[in-house]
Amino acid sequence: MIGKFRLGDEIFYGEIDNGRIYPKGDIHIGIFELSELRVLPPASPSKIVCVGLNYLDHARELSMEIPENPVLFLKPPSSVIGHEDKIIYPASSSRIDYEAELAVVIGKRCKNISASKAEDVIAGYTCFNDVTARDLQQKDGQWTRAKSFDTFAAFGPYLASPEELDIKDAKIACRVNGEIKQESSTSNLIFDIPYLIEFISEIMTLEVGDIITTGTPSGIGELQRMDTVEVEIQGIGILRNEVL
Ligand code: MG
Repeated sequence: MIGKFRLGDEIFYGEIDNGRIYPKGDIHIGIFELSELRVLPPASPSKIVCVGLNYLDHARELSMEIPENPVLFLKPPSSVIGHEDKIIYPASSSRIDYEAELAVVIGKRCKNISASKAEDVIAGYTCFNDVTARDLQQKDGQWTRAKSFDTFAAFGPYLASPEELDIKDAKIACRVNGEIKQESSTSNLIFDIPYLIEFISEIMTLEVGDIITTGTPSGIGELQRMDTVEVEIQGIGILRNEVL
């Protein structure tokens, strides 16, 4: 498991082993306990590519047809926050929702990657909360405003390598104030990750650090101010954020 951390002015990636952080690369500043460091989002995306309806259970919940192609939208880099950062409830919305998702972080600049080669461009996987102003999404008819507020792209806490999780059947859950709201498995994905990388990289060049987030399972619902929301994915960990 790899994380991005801050200690004072120093920002570095580190390997996490048994709650201790071993800085990577040329930085020789010692070994740390997790509690000594601030956890940062584990990537700096130039874009976040999101997939709309992509879980069978969620499609059934909404009585929607299974889409023929992935439906894509973007979230801006300015919406990024990390583990334990606050989600800010916007004044112009009166309904914001959590959406627990598995996200892929790109590790190699690429274009036109076939599904069979997709693994070569993956840096790792992380938990993602695709926070959404549901009222504005319905009002606008397209999704840019609803999906793009600052703090609406929470991801982390760390990056799991492809060896660290069973990508075909990883449990994914969302809890609000400790209560389970979403519970599914990546085995319910309609379009799997290799296919998504092929589909998206045919459209746009993917840069190192770019994120593809793979859609949310059933059980979506509302967040209130002061709620604590957690996205947990087996093999990655727990992303926790409070709503302000
Ligand atoms: Mg979503």
